[in-house]
Amino acid sequence: MKFLSEYRHQREAENLYSLISVAANNLPLVSLMEVCGTHTMAIGRAGLRKRLPENVRLISGPGCPVCVTPDGYLDEAITLVEKEEVNLCTFGDMMRVPGSRGTLEQSQSKGNKVFVVYSPTEALELAGKTKGEVVFLAVGFETTAPAVAWVVKKASQEKIRNFSLLVGHKLIPPAMAALLEDARMKIDGFICPGHVSAIIGKQPYQFIAERYRRACVIAGFETLDIVQAILMLLQQLKEKRSAVEIQYSRCVQPEGNRKAWELIREVFSVVETEWRGLGIIPQSGLALNKKYAWLDARKRFSLSGISIRKREKCKCGEILKGLISPLECPLFGQKCTPSHPVGPCMVSSEGTCAAYYQYEVEVGDRHD
Ligand code: SF4
Repeated sequence: MKFLSEYRHQREAENLYSLISVAANNLPLVSLMEVCGTHTMAIGRAGLRKRLPENVRLISGPGCPVCVTPDGYLDEAITLVEKEEVNLCTFGDMMRVPGSRGTLEQSQSKGNKVFVVYSPTEALELAGKTKGEVVFLAVGFETTAPAVAWVVKKASQEKIRNFSLLVGHKLIPPAMAALLEDARMKIDGFICPGHVSAIIGKQPYQFIAERYRRACVIAGFETLDIVQAILMLLQQLKEKRSAVEIQYSRCVQPEGNRKAWELIREVFSVVETEWRGLGIIPQSGLALNKKYAWLDARKRFSLSGISIRKREKCKCGEILKGLISPLECPLFGQKCTPSHPVGPCMVSSEGTCAAYYQYEVEVGDRHD
């Protein structure tokens, strides 16, 4: 079988599947959500949905940082890069994400100065080489925030006056809580993100287990990691427990990476922020704190009050909430493909629609 040949430890995998069948027996329909784009891709790549008992459903949540970045942020970025003096630096996966005024790639093709960088440090280095303004698009979850915080401190220490950041960082646990507050959502447990948890540890999920009584397991990214995490979640449900457990113990310490987290807290304040599809969520974003506010591109370029044109057709908002599967979007695989994406969930290499297109659609049915 093609699926089994992908395993490094085939026997362990089969053993885990047997245990999953036992654990799922007599449980009602169980919905487990992953909130990490790398998990979404790994689940698709391994064909996991087809291997689980019928009463165990995997749904994808807001785990891709590019996908959850709202139109307004992209519109701010495009407004910035249209300014003569601005050089905009971004990670490559933001280039094709549509805002209401188009994409950065389209803006670049009009001659605006958009540069793809691989780290925030590269953007800071560019500021040292140019007289113009350099703005870095600081997007991502808890995983990328420490490296950005480090660059903010360095820019401040070296008084680099032509450098600033458009901060769009987001925090995962408040988004999980926001999903659970939505009465339409049926989530019994979360496969928690390994990379994010390496920074924050297990404590920030504790309220999900205690207040919302949902099972949480922090998982790694190998197929076996995810299968084992699913088993651990089912065992919690079977025993009517809700706890935060760590499957990915080879990388995640219960207390996380304290130094990285301290760096984040030194540079950023926790604020409310808008998520694509989920709206404004309290305490779910980061903003530069007072000491570093002079590095805030929104303030430097007076960006408030940008109006956003609403785009109706893309269903990324419902996809990011796990309310529908990409297969239920009428544009999926027809007008919306990885070569011609309509929404961010198809653009990003970690987007749910891209994962479904790559792994859940037969090659002959693809329109690329
Ligand atoms: S298939 Fe395309 S249009 Fe539909 S929700 Fe996904 S990204 Fe949006």
